[in-house]
Amino acid sequence: MAADARASPDVLLYTEWASKDRYKQLLEERGLNVVYPGDVADWEAIRFAVAWKPPPGLLTQCRNLEAAMSLGAGVDHILQPGQVPDRVPVLRIVDPRMAERMATWVVWGVINWQRRFEAYLEAQRAARWDLGIEGRTNRDNCDVSVGVMGFGVMGRATAEALAALGYKVSAWSRTARQHGAVRCFHGSGQLREFVSGADVLVCLLPLTDDTRGIVDARLLSWLPRGGAVINGARGAHLVEADLLAALDSEQVGFALLDVFATEPLPADSPLWSHPRVRLTPHVASMTTLEGAADQIAANYHSVVAGRGPLPVNLIDRTAGY
Ligand code: NDP
Repeated sequence: MAADARASPDVLLYTEWASKDRYKQLLEERGLNVVYPGDVADWEAIRFAVAWKPPPGLLTQCRNLEAAMSLGAGVDHILQPGQVPDRVPVLRIVDPRMAERMATWVVWGVINWQRRFEAYLEAQRAARWDLGIEGRTNRDNCDVSVGVMGFGVMGRATAEALAALGYKVSAWSRTARQHGAVRCFHGSGQLREFVSGADVLVCLLPLTDDTRGIVDARLLSWLPRGGAVINGARGAHLVEADLLAALDSEQVGFALLDVFATEPLPADSPLWSHPRVRLTPHVASMTTLEGAADQIAANYHSVVAGRGPLPVNLIDRTAGY
């Protein structure tokens, strides 16, 4: 890194992740001159920001900001009102390895429900061998329909992984899509038909004004009785009270959740101990350090230094994702 670059840091890095210092190091190795908010001497020098859940008002202090990049695939946190001025382009991380991780997490949830592994876990804990006929019958993959809400980077990789395993897979998107192995639905007019045909409903949507609270009592009532719900997107997609009611009435048989309305999930949340909920602490698909650093550096060099190709993975701020 050039000594003069060190004199005027122009990349702001904000995250509370434990990997913060490692990110700073990786970005500096790629020629970026990175500063944490607490160390900024000259806010006008900041031209590029990389952030995960920045506090309100942080980025608006950077009056010469040329681009803001989310430190993850989702941008809902950085598109909150008052975060990034409208004139500033917003970018995100897109990483095939993250999509593969998400797909693996979802496949685990589908198989867990389909093969009743929860019941076997309980039986093991009770040193019980025989679960009766119920424990000896299984639905084959070709008899299980999985509906994936969102057919973007995460949704497509997940749908394709499931289709490759022989599941009947459908996907729902905002605009019309086509795929050889996945039945495609789109728009609110096809939502009910899409949900009604899914034994397992998987949410991999971005969080926008249109998708907030989309998995509610009405939508859950459209599912075939006893099906499963998997949410790997954002907690605010799901109305947790409606899910709990649907689980208690056995309209929903099982839920796998990675994301929650409040994170960390409060200790008194009934989701922690619900017998038919399995949860993970927002780890379904974590950002890959090196892959993210490469993309951030490439976008920085493109936007600020005017070198290399155009920035990649630009958000459509009108659509919100
Ligand atoms: P993309 O932007 O690549 O894809 C979004 C998909 O959702 C597109 O298919 C889009 O439709 C569809 N969509 C958007 N709005 C609507 C709507 N109103 N109605 C129907 N479909 C809609 O996003 P990714 O796949 O990369 O990521 C999705 C989300 O997953 C992220 O926003 C993030 O919140 C979450 N995530 C969670 C992680 C975790 O660890 N738990 C890790 C990574 C991501 P169209 O194709 O028509 O544009």
